[in-house]
Amino acid sequence: MPELPEVETTLRGIEPYIIGKKISSVIIRNPSLRWPVPEEIPKKLKNQVIDRIQRRGKYLLLQVSKEYLIIHLGMSGSLRISKQADIKKHDHIDLCFEDGTYLRYCDPRRFGCFLWTDDIEKHFLLKHLGPEPLSNSFNGEYLFEASRKRKTSVKNFIMNSRVVVGVGNIYASEALYAAGIRPTSKAGKVTKKKFNLLAQEIVKILRKSIENGGTTLRDFVSGDNAPGYFKQSLKVYGREGEKCYKCSTEIKGIRIGQRASAYCPKCQAKF
Ligand SMILES: [Zn+2]
Repeated sequence: MPELPEVETTLRGIEPYIIGKKISSVIIRNPSLRWPVPEEIPKKLKNQVIDRIQRRGKYLLLQVSKEYLIIHLGMSGSLRISKQADIKKHDHIDLCFEDGTYLRYCDPRRFGCFLWTDDIEKHFLLKHLGPEPLSNSFNGEYLFEASRKRKTSVKNFIMNSRVVVGVGNIYASEALYAAGIRPTSKAGKVTKKKFNLLAQEIVKILRKSIENGGTTLRDFVSGDNAPGYFKQSLKVYGREGEKCYKCSTEIKGIRIGQRASAYCPKCQAKF
């Protein structure tokens, strides 16, 4: 599933190829995404120029004049720049530019979205989002204050997009391991010192993933390749039954909420 780093990598990959470009038409081959693609979108975008692209959580916001196209990649979506007209099975939407290039959206499972808004502050998908993890408003102090009296597990807490956006299951698991916090600990019990460490680790892992993603940017313009998502060596996620790299204790697997989790019983303290 595309996570924040992949979305950021996508943004950086497509940005130079779409900013200032005039859209000649929009082709919607299949409007049945998570929400139906609004019929007004082709009319709204025709003959318009893309002024800016930004990311909010895992949403990409393409600004056209004072309005925005909101794109989410869902479970399996990807965007690529193409110079070719050859369409593959799950290529549902094309923004066609005047210069003959396309921004092409592919999404086999169709959990993504293409929506339209004139107010990104009030849109139902965006208005409840917490701070960006790579912004100044995100730090250990913030997590500590926001978590007091919260009985939810610290892992669910940091994966809650109202608390902070873009911390997916793998990133949460790895950051909790690096910070030495057991994922099942009650969020309200974790110390300020540990939250400082955790915030630092979340930032570190997201930045590293974005850097790794950055090495595959050329894939975005290769015409028919989906973006090559980063590969990163995982220290705890998916390592149930294997030995901890730090202390050789067996990594335990559990489920928190609906999600697979793993932790080292020795290195990750319970609060
Ligand atoms: Zn260990």
